[in-house]
Amino acid sequence: MLKFGGAALRDGPAVESAVAIVRAHGGPRPLVVVSAHEGVTKLLERAAEDARAGGFDWEPLRVRHRTLLRQLGLSSELLDRHLRDLRAILEHVRSEGRLDRRRLDFVLSFGERMSARVVAAALRAGGVPATPVDAFDLGLLSETRSGLTLPVEGARARVRRAVLDVPGVPVVTGFVALDAEGHLTTLGPNGSDLTAVWMGEAVDADEVHLWKTVDGVRTADPKLVPDARRIARLTYREAAELAAHGADVLHAAAMEPASRRGIPIRVRNAEDPALPGTVIAGEAGDSHPPGPRAIAHRARVALLSRRLDLARDPGEQMNAVFSACREAGLDPFLFAVPGTEAVLLLPDKDGVERLGAGDVVERGLASFALVGPGVGEDAELVAAVCDLAARARLDVRSLPSGDGPMSRLFLAPAEKLETTLRLVHGTFIGEERERREARPTRA
Ligand code: ASP
Ligand code: MG
Repeated sequence: MLKFGGAALRDGPAVESAVAIVRAHGGPRPLVVVSAHEGVTKLLERAAEDARAGGFDWEPLRVRHRTLLRQLGLSSELLDRHLRDLRAILEHVRSEGRLDRRRLDFVLSFGERMSARVVAAALRAGGVPATPVDAFDLGLLSETRSGLTLPVEGARARVRRAVLDVPGVPVVTGFVALDAEGHLTTLGPNGSDLTAVWMGEAVDADEVHLWKTVDGVRTADPKLVPDARRIARLTYREAAELAAHGADVLHAAAMEPASRRGIPIRVRNAEDPALPGTVIAGEAGDSHPPGPRAIAHRARVALLSRRLDLARDPGEQMNAVFSACREAGLDPFLFAVPGTEAVLLLPDKDGVERLGAGDVVERGLASFALVGPGVGEDAELVAAVCDLAARARLDVRSLPSGDGPMSRLFLAPAEKLETTLRLVHGTFIGEERERREARPTRA
């Protein structure tokens, strides 16, 4: 089971590489899941929003896909039907001046639907029989509850049968599914990872390979921390925890179904397929000594604190906070009730300061989490991080609660994030620690 992310399909040569990878690594019955070509989801989102506001630029979408077809030597008409339909929907949004979630999802789905056509055609041109498949035609159902998308129980057998009926290599759209009422939905950023794992689960795949353009999961974001190193093995829990705290290389919800079925996920580099990548698998990684293994971060967050009225139902009061967030379009990253106060970590966007009258809102923050076995219970580690930061005159504090046994969450001023991450990474996840761990232990 192979999944190609948008960057791994960014242009003609990248798609050619993907074809070569399917041949070399796909096994006897490859199953392929694809993201939209890099940047296309954003273009679609912008076009939809511009259409609602009264006008959209059609050229970038048209040119982008035509260029791909030309680079691959494929028929220039391959995507005509999709492009025509897409344009008609955008025109419709423009004339109505309205864009609801459902319509937006429909617009976004074209990214993956077109890339499945392109990749299947490129495979066929390379001598590999292949068929593009829309995931919703396989019966991939999802349930959307409070922003969380889950595969519907019982869909697995149906999907499995449908996949077996597809002639040649099925090239399945990531990111799109049907909801319980039969409407098209999308699965959020990196949603194709989730599709890939669901599909892998449905067909009992030995492994799910996520082909990206990075060497694997790293100990921190290399854009901010140049010393960040590839991690060879992670447990599902560690990977989920990293994703939940903002590491954008993975989809948090994708770990659950994989761990349920014990299917290893391998993050691999499509630009260098010989590299081993990162394996996310069962509990073997648990033999790591306790301590942080990686840092995840969010560059811009706001912290909201609301004092709870002890005479009133706390559940009702929490519901009121969540409804206010939802109405303002702010999905909380985390919430905790460490005492008489509810604390929420939110996206740092305008409107956050107007959520509730008595709330205290701090903006301009960044969050980072240390993740690894035993980290959540390690009070000394928290003190050491805060102490180290204080000596460097960095204003770092730990969040009072909300951490599982695998992680610890901290806040820092957004403009000091890079400095802070480098310092914390260098000290707690640095080379030194790794060397110590690599030293063979004698029985
Ligand atoms: N195309 C979607 C995105 O850009 C889904 C994905 O790539 O996994 O996030
Ligand atoms: Mg992506």
